[in-house]
Amino acid sequence: MIEKCSLCGYCNMNSPLMTVTGNEALAPRFYAYLLRKGAFNEAFYGFVVDGSTEHLCPAKIDLDPLVLRARSKLVDLGKETEANKNMMAELREKGKLYQE
Ligand code: SF4
Repeated sequence: MIEKCSLCGYCNMNSPLMTVTGNEALAPRFYAYLLRKGAFNEAFYGFVVDGSTEHLCPAKIDLDPLVLRARSKLVDLGKETEANKNMMAELREKGKLYQE
């Protein structure tokens, strides 16, 4: 699916991080670019999985499941972040992230 991406950038239009920071490296097109290159690195943890890209994309690419698969691959490759490892440990131990 990602091979249909033309890197047009329409998916950046609703990006809250792009709007606030002006940094395109935090916006969806950057992640589409990484996926197209097959570059799996910690940057994928910065993607906001919020369902905001598919309806904007002329190629109907839904980046959310692609990024989630990339994160799974990072775990498989032993490249997950310490923050993710800690979060997963909390979930396994307590079944929740935050104390009430
Ligand atoms: S994912 Fe879709 S909207 Fe985003 S750059 Fe690629 S083709 Fe354009």
